[in-house]
This record gives sequence, structure tokens and C-alpha cells, in this order.
Amino acid sequence: MLDGWVPWPESFARRYRAAGYWEGRPLDRLLRERAAADPDRIALVDAAGDRWTYAELDRHADRQAAGLRRLGIGAGDRVVVQLPNTDAFVVLFFALLRAGAVPVLTLPAHRESEIVHVAETAGATAYVIPDVLDGFDHRALARAARKAVPSIEHVLVAGEAAEFTALADVDAAPVPLAEPDPGDVALLLLSGGTTGKPKLIPRTHDDYTYNVRASAEVCGFDSDTVYLVVLPTAHNFALACPGLLGTLMVGGTVVLAPTPSPEDAFELIEREKVTATAVVPPVALLWLDAVEWEDADLSSLRLLQVGGSKLGAEPAARVRPALGCTLQQVFGMAEGLLNYTRLDDPSDLVIQTQGRPLSPDDEIRVVDEDGRDVAPGETGELLTRGPYTLRGYYRAPEHNARTFSDDGFYRTGDLVRVLPSGHLVVEGRAKDQINRGGDKISAEELENHIMAHPGVHDAAVVGMPDATMGERTCACLVPRAGRSAPAQRELAAFLTDRGVAAYKLPDRVEVMDAFPRTSVGKTDKKELGRRIAGQLRTEDGGVH
Ligand code: AMP
Repeated sequence: MLDGWVPWPESFARRYRAAGYWEGRPLDRLLRERAAADPDRIALVDAAGDRWTYAELDRHADRQAAGLRRLGIGAGDRVVVQLPNTDAFVVLFFALLRAGAVPVLTLPAHRESEIVHVAETAGATAYVIPDVLDGFDHRALARAARKAVPSIEHVLVAGEAAEFTALADVDAAPVPLAEPDPGDVALLLLSGGTTGKPKLIPRTHDDYTYNVRASAEVCGFDSDTVYLVVLPTAHNFALACPGLLGTLMVGGTVVLAPTPSPEDAFELIEREKVTATAVVPPVALLWLDAVEWEDADLSSLRLLQVGGSKLGAEPAARVRPALGCTLQQVFGMAEGLLNYTRLDDPSDLVIQTQGRPLSPDDEIRVVDEDGRDVAPGETGELLTRGPYTLRGYYRAPEHNARTFSDDGFYRTGDLVRVLPSGHLVVEGRAKDQINRGGDKISAEELENHIMAHPGVHDAAVVGMPDATMGERTCACLVPRAGRSAPAQRELAAFLTDRGVAAYKLPDRVEVMDAFPRTSVGKTDKKELGRRIAGQLRTEDGGVH
């Protein structure tokens, strides 16, 4: 068993097994079983049109698993994976599981600051990267990461390896490998984070397989499903809700999109006759507009899942008329709990709510600031526990003490109300995080970086309303005495230099003499947010 994670109490584990949620199957079996049942079916298609049958994918994963073992990467080893939406990701994911290693999934956008922290926390022994992606050389990042995190012994590169090992050379004749304990951690996902640095989310074979299987059922996935991966494969939504794993589990076909742009995605939808996909609200908005001028044939599309941040009721209502498919709202978290509107829900629930819990055993509490349950229908913070919701972040005991109740409920930091039908409406957020169109930014993490700037005395990062992204990021700065605070461009360059991912860079900088304070003397972020929003309205008013 991996150490440093918090398993479910045995009484709960027994219950989840008895209810049939946890089936005692390693996660990689979903591929093995489909490959045995339907070897010649197409499992995977990449953007270039290269096709993999289930048998080919399965065989390749076996060979790479043997190659990993030969390198000395095996049971319980944590491997940081940072690959774009390519077949290399899919093969590697299964190969790592088969070798008994634990993939730690990071986004292609992450940079030194995030990668070093994640590799350090995970105690990673290997790091897998593309060579160059969008003009950024990941091998340079790997050099820096290796220097900072000596536990990284291997760097594997999809592409030109330079001094590292080419992923293509990680290949050997398949060897029999012991199957992992299904109750053990299968992979580590990244949380958006509200404090300091991103946290690692342990997901077990049992819980993640259930997450995938139950999601595939609710979403009506079957062997005719052709699922387009638009979001990064490392994101829980695209990976497992039901995502690429859910599609493979039922024998469907996964198509990989290089970007979510309407040009790329629409072309693939037409070419591969895609039936289902998942996007964040800004991408949905883009697509809703693009159908007016793109003439691609989208008639195969039956299901558009939208989640990651809140989709407004107005764009939600436009999905069926514009795209001709069913909308499904998804309010989920890599920590576990998933809420889906159901395919046969009446349209007002689909348009107005963010869905209801996936599992009959998802327990939901909605509490006030003192932790007391609010009256039914009132808004409060959502707490949850269940058969696929974590009981603690990986190696984060102090954070866990704050984030989980004594009886194991996860405090989501989301403000919701529950309708009599059981559907949830997301009303806002209690956590100090900006949700920039689905990308999560921890205010505290960014403030810590900004405060390292010599011109900054104090920093407060708040969200500002934005029609497309839902929110964008505003950094409020108090300059250091006798110095001037950096302008937006300078601050962005400074943060980039510190290895901060581009999506975290502030969209706006506001310099002020002092911050408003709460009655106990803390920075009043609510007031700051109101001021910025007011200012934006004035500026808008000035334009029109
Ligand atoms: P992640 O771990 O990136 O999946 O982020 C999970 C968080 O994203 C949730 O706790 C919410 O704050 C937010 N979120 C996800 N889906 C939705 C949605 N449909 N509506 C509003 N917020 C959402």
C-alpha cells in the first residue's frame, strides 16, 4: 500500500463493496477486457487520423509496462505525467498502471513552480514530458525540475529526447506483472487548490473504476459512442466523467482533439462522427457562436457535457437549438463528487441546475458558516462524502485537518442550494480561489508569488466578472514605500520568470494605497471584489 494517503474507514469500505460500487478490479482491466472482447474495434483516433484498435492499444501498453519495469519503474513509484492530448498519453497511462506505478497527472500548461512542487510532494522518481509544445521546451523544464527534485531519476520524452530517454525506447517484450491491490491508490490528480500550492488527490482503483463505470451509465455511453477529448486528458472531467476511460470501458472510440478551437473540434466531429464531448463554459460559448459561420456537419453530436465552472442559463438554453444535441450540466471535482443533469431530465432542470449526485451513496450536507445544516432549499457550503470522494489529500495532514470534518466529509468550498428534486444549483464560492473559465487559481498561491516582487508591499488576488470566462483574475497591489508597483505586463514577466503557469497570470493589476479591512483587520476581499466590479461597470459605461 502507498503511504501518506487516507483510506476510507473499514466500515465504509465494506458498505461500498457490499453495494457493488467497489468491484475489486484494477483500473487498467477496463482496457484488457475490451481488448479481449473486441480486439479489432477502433479504440483511439488521434488528430492526424492515426487509428489504434483495442488489441493494439492493449499490446502497446503491455510492452511499455515491461519497458518501464526494465528501467526500474515499478510498484508504488510516482511518475509525474505532463503530456498533451496524444496517443502517447493513453498508452503511458495504462502502461504505468500495469507496471504498478502511480501516474501523477499535471497539465501541459504547468511550469516549474507547479511541477517542482508536485514532484517533490509526490516523491516522484520519473517525469514524462513532450519535447517542445506550443514553442515551450519541456526538456529545459525537466532539467530544472531534476535539479530541484533529486528523487527524479528518469525523464522520459515523447519526441526528441536530448540527454533523456525517448518514450519510444521504453519498450520490451511483455512480462507477467502482478496486479495491484484494487483498494490501493491508482493515480494522483491535481486539485485546483485554495491554499499555497496545488494538492494531490489520491484515487484508488476501486473508487476510480466506479467513478468511470457509473458515469458511463448515467451518460448512456455504449460501444457506439465516439467521444472527443477536448479538455486536457489529465483533467478528471475529460479522463473519467465518463471521458476517455468511460468510452474505452464500454468499447467506444476515443478521438483526441489538439485544441478546443471550433476549427479543430468541428472538423474532428464531422470527420469521426463524434457523438459526445465535454467542454468548459467559455468553450461552449465559443462553439455556440462558431456554428453560425463554420459550416461543419455536427449532426452526429448527441451529447454536450458542460462543467468546470458555472454555465449561465441563457447559453444553456441555446445549446439544443444551436448544436442540435442534448446538454448535460456537470458540477464535479477531481476530489470526487460528480453531479450530472440526467439525459431525461426536464429541460428547465437541465438549463437551471448543475445536476444531481451520481451515486445513491453520495452524502450531501449544506451548512452555514458555523457548520450547521441550513434549512432545505437555503444556500450554504456543500460538504460531501461517498464511495468515490477522497478522505484526505496526499501527504497533507495539516490541510486535511481543516478541509475534512471529523466524520470524513470533504468541505468543497462551493456554495449551493438543493432543490426538492435533489438537483444542486451552484450559487457561489466560499473558497479563496478564482475559477477562470474552469481553470482554478489559488489566490494565496498567486499572492505569495506576487509578494516576492521587490515593488510590492501587499497583494490581494480577487476574481472580476467576465462575460466569457465567468471570472478573470485581478491582482490588487499596495506598493512598497518609495517604490512603484509593477504594471500588469511587468508583473506577468516576473511571474513567468518564477515558473508560474500562464493561466495564472493576472489579467489586471490595480494599485492602491491600502486595502479595505474587515472588522478583525483582515484584507476585505469581498469589498475589493465589489470595488473592481464597480470600476469595470464604470469603464464599460464609458465605452458605450
Ligand atoms: P476541478 O477539481 O478542477 O474539477 O474543480 C472543481 C471545482 O470546480 C468545484 O469545486 C467547483 O468550484 C468548480 N465547478 C466544477 N463544475 C462546476 C459547475 N458546473 N458549476 C460551477 N462550478 C463548478
